[in-house]
Amino acid sequence: MSDITTVNPATGEEIATYSRLSREEACAAVDKCHAAFEQWRLRSLDDRAQVIKNLGKALRDHKEELARLMTEEVGKLIGDSRDEVELCAAICDYTAANGPRELADEQRDPNNAGRGIVTYSPIGVIYGVQPWNFPAYQVIRYAIANLMTGNGVVLKHASNCTGSGLKIAEIFAEGGLPENLFTVLVIDHDTSDAIVEHDKVRGVTLTGSDGAGKHIAEAAGKVLKPLVLELGSNDAYLVLEDTDIDKAAEVCARARLYNNGQTCINGKRFIVTDKVYDAFLEKFVAKFEATRIGDPLAEDSDMGPMARRDLREDVQKQVDQSVEKGARIACGGEIPDGPGAFYPATVLVDVAPGQPAYDDEIFGPVASVIRAKNDEDAMRLANDSRYGLGGGILCGDTDRAIELAKTHFDTGMVFINTYGVADPSMPFGGVKNSGYGREHGGFGIKEFANAKAIFVG
Ligand code: NDP
Repeated sequence: MSDITTVNPATGEEIATYSRLSREEACAAVDKCHAAFEQWRLRSLDDRAQVIKNLGKALRDHKEELARLMTEEVGKLIGDSRDEVELCAAICDYTAANGPRELADEQRDPNNAGRGIVTYSPIGVIYGVQPWNFPAYQVIRYAIANLMTGNGVVLKHASNCTGSGLKIAEIFAEGGLPENLFTVLVIDHDTSDAIVEHDKVRGVTLTGSDGAGKHIAEAAGKVLKPLVLELGSNDAYLVLEDTDIDKAAEVCARARLYNNGQTCINGKRFIVTDKVYDAFLEKFVAKFEATRIGDPLAEDSDMGPMARRDLREDVQKQVDQSVEKGARIACGGEIPDGPGAFYPATVLVDVAPGQPAYDDEIFGPVASVIRAKNDEDAMRLANDSRYGLGGGILCGDTDRAIELAKTHFDTGMVFINTYGVADPSMPFGGVKNSGYGREHGGFGIKEFANAKAIFVG
């Protein structure tokens, strides 16, 4: 079994080496988590909420330390890492404040009994496989919801942010979470399959690529485990005819470049109506060209490196193949010299079906600009994707955009005159190949709950 060595993508230097658990060790850790769950499930909703509130405080207490580690492991801007830890603490606060109400028993009036009660019971240990792009948020979002539900949580984090996963476990222990209730498994993919099959694991959730999603879905399907999947996307941002172009260029640049361009809900295709195309493109490209790329620990950098050099190679391949098939580079598009995994803010134009820039997700700072005949054509192009996670509308008439969002957008989220963010009060998830199930907004907390019907005669 090989060790994991984490590498700082800004410098190419090694950070730390971790030994992987054997299959037996990992399965024993699941057994311990299950034992902790058997106690945790008996605690009242208010009691669990109080512990979760304390975890939020512990995260804030360790904000700087965790933020720095995340930046070192995956190259996030230090300001974004701090914001991420704050978001994690806000998820704890929101869940502690609303969880007991969301999970409270419901009274019903069945025809064949005196009264009915719906109670939300936990189901056991939930196994999460999480990615590196938000090393803390991706973990907190499913872990906190499931702890509130009363479940136990085991995590396989992305190898390149192993340190962040272990740090979160330390912070949770300090915040007062019972031992073994949240356990990090440093394991390889084969052992991951054994964890999916483990009889004490009662649910599985993954955020990551389509490939990883298909693998986990197949493994979970074979043993009939419920599953939540949050996969990639190729989010379309529509720039409609009545848009304020300055604002649209600013929002769209942020939508694409946020988190070094490595977010599932980054805007990726920018579908611009003919009437405003030239004016938008000029301002949009200017924003990309003005992006200061550099040390993610420096407060004045606008963008850091990509998370790994192999991911950067993948992006370059997609750009090159798109250009071979007719796309043009308006700016960026070439890997710079140097030891890090930096990639320039890149705009592709003349993007059309058959090119990776149109058909597939590019998980890096590359925007695909597509010309639409008019607003109706823009809407048609937006849905011309196998994905359906998020999307945006830049427009003057907000009421019309809300109507379009409701009736025409085949996605789980729509952002009107703003760019994609997660919020604990709003559902998060997709349709089509972007996955299934929802996190946040009172939904995530019930994904792995048993809505148990009690009939009282
Ligand atoms: P992966 O989907 O391969 O990795 C995400 C997580 O899944 C990691 O923890 C990884 O573990 C794990 N994983 C992958 N394959 C398996 C498997 N067979 N069994 C168990 N666990 C598995 O993403 P990459 O890091 O390779 O990034 C590639 C692409 O994934 C990106 O370019 C992007 O398109 C997409 N992605 C999407 C994200 C999102 O937010 N939706 C986030 C990150 C990536 P390990 O690190 O050990 O391989």
